[in-house]
Amino acid sequence: MSSNDYKKIADLLFPDVKLTPENLEKKYPPRNLPDGACVTRPAPSPTGFMHLGNLWNAMIDEKLAHQSGGAVYLRIEDTDQKREVKGAMKLIIDVYDRFDFNFDEGYTKNGDFGEYGPYIQSRRKEIYRVFAKQLVSEGKAYPCFCSQEELEEIKKQQKAVKANTGYYGKWAKCRDLTYEEIENNFKNGEKYIIRFKSPGDENKRISVNDLIKGLLDPPENIRDEVVLKSDGLPTYHFAHVVDDHLMRTTHVVRDEEWLPSLPTHVQLFEAFRWKAPYYMHHSRLLKQEGVSKRKLSKRKDPELALDYYDKVGYIPQCLKEYIMTLLNSNYEEWRIANPTADLNDFKFTVEKLSPSGALFDLNKLNDISKNYISTLVTDEIYDYVKNWAETYDKDFYNFLTSREDYAKSILSIGRGVEKPRKDITYMSEVKNYVSYFYDELFNADYTMPYNIKSQSADDIKNIAKDYTDIYDSNDEQTVWFDKIKSLAAKYGYAPEMKLYRKNPQDYKGSVADISMILRVAVCGRQNSPDMYEVFKIMGSDMICRRLEWFAGKYK
Ligand code: GLU
Repeated sequence: MSSNDYKKIADLLFPDVKLTPENLEKKYPPRNLPDGACVTRPAPSPTGFMHLGNLWNAMIDEKLAHQSGGAVYLRIEDTDQKREVKGAMKLIIDVYDRFDFNFDEGYTKNGDFGEYGPYIQSRRKEIYRVFAKQLVSEGKAYPCFCSQEELEEIKKQQKAVKANTGYYGKWAKCRDLTYEEIENNFKNGEKYIIRFKSPGDENKRISVNDLIKGLLDPPENIRDEVVLKSDGLPTYHFAHVVDDHLMRTTHVVRDEEWLPSLPTHVQLFEAFRWKAPYYMHHSRLLKQEGVSKRKLSKRKDPELALDYYDKVGYIPQCLKEYIMTLLNSNYEEWRIANPTADLNDFKFTVEKLSPSGALFDLNKLNDISKNYISTLVTDEIYDYVKNWAETYDKDFYNFLTSREDYAKSILSIGRGVEKPRKDITYMSEVKNYVSYFYDELFNADYTMPYNIKSQSADDIKNIAKDYTDIYDSNDEQTVWFDKIKSLAAKYGYAPEMKLYRKNPQDYKGSVADISMILRVAVCGRQNSPDMYEVFKIMGSDMICRRLEWFAGKYK
């Protein structure tokens, strides 16, 4: 076919396309950025599932861009409309917002903004058509009229002769249609797609230096991949190449699932005579299962979904902190040296990214989380719990907000001191953590530790009863404790630990047992923060009421 024929096909298929590639190059010029500046983009698809990989990816993107004086933008890849889920667009935007990403451009909560948009692929149909037309007019792409059935048939024949499947070489029936055949099909209204005419040779290899995986040399692609689908929208391959070129992306950070199509992408960039971006393919996160490791799976591991962390009530910052420890192994050290610094101040290094998958360990996240939460001031933790409860536990939300000062004093226990308590990991456990401060949530477990349980139930009940008469909320801590000691002495328990340790046989137990009896009676549990503080916050009325309930129920 002559070059004139290619032009004629292009005009036949794209009569509406008036813009030229030059027009678009001019509209989206190379960015005016300092040398070495990176332009990056997370490019999620609206499938309704946002996962740890999306966070991982976006963190690398943001670091690369902002450390180098470049830009990071958010692009929505919605060209596979069959996979699109309602509400998924909002989910993407909300997730990045929750994790506090700072996009310079893109399709974000501030709308579709920036000089290189639209940043949502379904609104770029015209742009893709301009470039598809260019390829067709240069004889580098062609319309393919094969039906689904014909493609199935080709596959069957390939299998029968043990050939690789796919649309390539002699199997690519529409590759060599004449202009007349194409015109005829077109005029008959036959459905078609546009395929790239692969110049690949299966005996040759390409060479790509992936900044994470290292030097890669996969075989050239020989398949005539689809570039425009019958709905006029591009495939991922085509949209990636056109968009990352026009948006002037310098570094493509993406999941390793895209590695097999890398040769196609390289070919497309070459076909347009464009410089390909640097590629950074990251591995999937792994999970330890027994002695082996496996990839985190959507089906088996709820913790893969970012929604999980929202529901459980992790603080987004903690998840980012943990991921940063996996991205750059020197991060932990930096964090210890800079405990209050902003994560954005950490100098991230590409060379430290591991080419193989990192192990994701919820226990490590929990440790980071506990530490982080222990450093929050009361108002901060209160806001986190309140906001979480507003979405996930309305009842609890009402308790928290109807007596805000009371809730804050509970949350202030063991906070703001040199060694703060580390007993909250995520928000969904706070209700249980504070439930005994609310009669309506109080669910007592009066089980005593074994050594106390073996004492007489009457003694235990009397100790609780006596305490009603002596508790005074105005007591200083020493007076308060002296009263507990006096109760110990009265019932034959050692008032001082050292006395007990010296002659345990002389006592039923020690003052620690009296404290435990009172803790279980008042709080309905064996563990609580400092009892003096707990009792002070509860106040006399609640304490007496609890002691009375206990005396009535303890057997
Ligand atoms: N839309 C693709 C995905 O969600 C993004 C791949 C890329 O970053 O280029 O997997």
